[in-house]
Amino acid sequence: NMIIASNFIQNAIDEDLKNGKYSEGIHTRFPPEPNGYLHIGHAKSICLNFGLAKKNNGMCNLRFDDTNPTKEDVEYVDSIQDDVKWLGFTWDDRMFYASNYFDKLFECAMELIKAGKAYVCDLNAEQMRQYRGTLTEPGQDSPYRSRSIEENLDLFMRMQKGEFADGERVLRAKIDMAAPNINLRDPILYRISHTAHHRTGTTWCIYPMYDFAHPISDAVEGITHSICTLEFEDHRPLYDWLLESLGYDVAKRPRQIEFARLNITDTVMSKRKLRQLVEGGYVTGWDDPRMPTISGLRRRGYTPEAIRDFCDRIGVAKSNSLVDVAMLEHCVREDLNERADRIMAVLQPLKVVITNYPADECEYMMAENHPHKGGHRFVPFTREIYIEQEDFMEEAPKKFFRLKPGGEVRLKHAFIIKCEEVIKDTAGQIVELHCTYDVDTKSGSANSGRKVKGTLHWVSAKFAVPAEVHLYDYLLKTEENSVESTNFIDELNPNSLEIINTCMIEPSVAWTAPGTRYQFLRQGYFCVDKDSTKEHLVFNRIVGLRDSWAK
Ligand code: ATP
Ligand code: MG
Ligand code: MG
Repeated sequence: NMIIASNFIQNAIDEDLKNGKYSEGIHTRFPPEPNGYLHIGHAKSICLNFGLAKKNNGMCNLRFDDTNPTKEDVEYVDSIQDDVKWLGFTWDDRMFYASNYFDKLFECAMELIKAGKAYVCDLNAEQMRQYRGTLTEPGQDSPYRSRSIEENLDLFMRMQKGEFADGERVLRAKIDMAAPNINLRDPILYRISHTAHHRTGTTWCIYPMYDFAHPISDAVEGITHSICTLEFEDHRPLYDWLLESLGYDVAKRPRQIEFARLNITDTVMSKRKLRQLVEGGYVTGWDDPRMPTISGLRRRGYTPEAIRDFCDRIGVAKSNSLVDVAMLEHCVREDLNERADRIMAVLQPLKVVITNYPADECEYMMAENHPHKGGHRFVPFTREIYIEQEDFMEEAPKKFFRLKPGGEVRLKHAFIIKCEEVIKDTAGQIVELHCTYDVDTKSGSANSGRKVKGTLHWVSAKFAVPAEVHLYDYLLKTEENSVESTNFIDELNPNSLEIINTCMIEPSVAWTAPGTRYQFLRQGYFCVDKDSTKEHLVFNRIVGLRDSWAK
């Protein structure tokens, strides 16, 4: 399912290939800034860039867009590589850093200055804003715009040598202060920042702006299709101006194509906001299972296949939209339905004593692991078992097909039992049920055909192992889903994590490794948490069983 449905980007590629452009083949890149962990929105970009390369027999680079040292860190460089690999994509020897091109970028800046296409400007940020004009008013030329080439070369080299303080001067492109597109009103190319960089240390105290570094990085790497999100549409004329001004051949140079970024209901998506959640202690880290980060989804128990399938299904569009989170859940549910073994776990146990079953006896019931994949295990059955509290009702309505006084149910993989007596404590709380079993109704035996309406999951009280279970709800619950426009911290769901300490689980899973996924019968899909140990089992609910996605 890694093949991407035909879309407007593929059409553009087809057209370029038909016209004989890019004779050396298609080359894309995924260019994250290492200033945070990747999220599901990045997964869309990863699937798109790596997917298009694969589909067109081309290549895709992983490029760290590390030109802003104040927010970047190697921790993020490492996590990004882990996440891209986990999603199922490889880059072989094509991993690059924009910071590798700092020398090249400096040369390009010098070249623009020499061609009279860039100048050093001494306006401060506030003045620059005033000179820039507005959407309806043209801007005004900076008084420094007419500096001589010699003076610009001298000042720019002195900027690079560290003679000036942060913000004192910038290098700007000399384009057109009256251009209707504000991005063309002499945009900044280089700024001064006396900040150590996680790779180049203190070698540089001037750093290129994204809009300058990106087209040149693309051209250096031989990228043919530079795919980015819609907010860069208005930057495309600058992208093209720079490549043109630096003499890149129009038949070979990269072409920028924009697509709509992914937004999901009840989900915050920008790294800035996700960082706020981490640093504010609202979640346990970037990999908190409630986070929409790749590492959070992985820890929660999502499969890479489900995420890729989701990215394929949402497709690629030219206008922004909001995808229902139920669709993401649908994708993982569908994948896990095929993949996950079934087991029995009781989250809120109610003890049941089977009074006609011998006290010291134990028999092993054969239980299928999966409805059609085959495989089975043996589950111990004993006189005392646990069922789910909510599977018993004393005053039950007529349509309640679970256990009630005098009623019968089947215990999955075992026998039919009948509720004979309800035992309460002095406060009137139900503490246990006394039931009898029908020895002739053992599942799989010759006489197992007797039918009752309800089937319950259960565990042996003697052999079940305790486990901690984490149930999740959305981090955010907004009424209008306009999550990006509101102060989202105020809208955080206070009940996004429910910890259940009472869970009893069948002993077959006591030794399973972190990351293993199961369907707990009737409860949903669960994954062994990365901090789970044999002594203290912890399971994360990935998703419930009920599908709320309306197709
Ligand atoms: P954020 O605002 O979350 O920090 P970003 O665009 O600044 O996102 P980058 O690290 O620069 O993050 O992104 C790397 C690539 O992933 C870019 O090409 C960007 O367009 C793409 N990308 C980021 N967020 C999304 C999204 N929600 N949907 C699709 N693509 C995205
Ligand atoms: Mg970015
Ligand atoms: Mg960003």
